[in-house]
Amino acid sequence: RNIKMYFPITGGILQRKVGEVKAVDNISFAIKRGETLGLVGESGCGKSTAGRVIMRLYEPTEGSVFFDGQDITKIKGNQLRQMRQNFQMVFQDPYSSLNPRMTVGSIIEEPLQVNTKMSHKEIRERVSHLLKVVGLPQEASLKHPHEFSGGQRQRIAIARALTLNPKLMVLDEAVSALDVSIQAQIINLLDDLRKEFGLSYLFISHNLSVVKHVSDKVGVMYLGRMVEIAPKSQLYSAPLHPYTESLLSAAPEPKRGLKRERIVLTGDVPNPANPPSGCAFHTRCPKAFDNCKAIRPELREIMPQQYVACHLY
Ligand code: SF4
Ligand code: MG
Repeated sequence: RNIKMYFPITGGILQRKVGEVKAVDNISFAIKRGETLGLVGESGCGKSTAGRVIMRLYEPTEGSVFFDGQDITKIKGNQLRQMRQNFQMVFQDPYSSLNPRMTVGSIIEEPLQVNTKMSHKEIRERVSHLLKVVGLPQEASLKHPHEFSGGQRQRIAIARALTLNPKLMVLDEAVSALDVSIQAQIINLLDDLRKEFGLSYLFISHNLSVVKHVSDKVGVMYLGRMVEIAPKSQLYSAPLHPYTESLLSAAPEPKRGLKRERIVLTGDVPNPANPPSGCAFHTRCPKAFDNCKAIRPELREIMPQQYVACHLY
């Protein structure tokens, strides 16, 4: 709720603060149990930062994160460690998140060793179960990450993320590095796991076609702000924000006859350390008018459950 995450910019010999990057600038959203919220936007729009704030990897500059009604931005120490077990994150590159010197078995069991008092036998059984759940053979447990393909490594990362029965998984570009056919397999696996374990996902991706596949709701971010958030079907069939329209017009549409007119945005994404005044999108918006430069539009419910930050509405 009202999350702001500002990072200082320092300069000069004394490394004094000379400015700040508003990586996330006052965003709010909710994810229900068993639901997937897709978070999209170009790189640098703040979606990964938002995911890290939810995971409590960053302390937000302002705002609160609630889990089951409790404000988790206020808790510390032991209580925080226990709370953290409810959240897990899976990244784009399992190479960097899986220790190359450990066997897959020890990678998966590590969270159990650290956080539980399970016996050796119980841990072995749990690892064996998790391998089965993510579709890896039992022999995988004795091998090392480099012996697996990219898709299989992502299965290992998912098995590890599941060890402590999380409630929410933040998937940050989790399938972006994979070939399209492997992407589909991992997405199907994630979908099965969600149903089986009642998981909720925050699915962060720059790929609108993938997000369309997995999400119930979709939020669109631009320069640290949420510009539109709506149930998936509404967002994809009747987007309201000009930025959402332009993103969708650039995404490939598999069904023929549904061709959208391509909206080409002019200019680059502005520097987040110095965002444009008013509506941050006004420098690239094909529909910008007088008000846009001066007044920042607030996110408002324009259609039922469809929230948009734009002066056109
Ligand atoms: Fe475009 Fe203005 Fe709407 Fe911003 S507020 S998206 S500049 S029309
Ligand atoms: Mg990112």
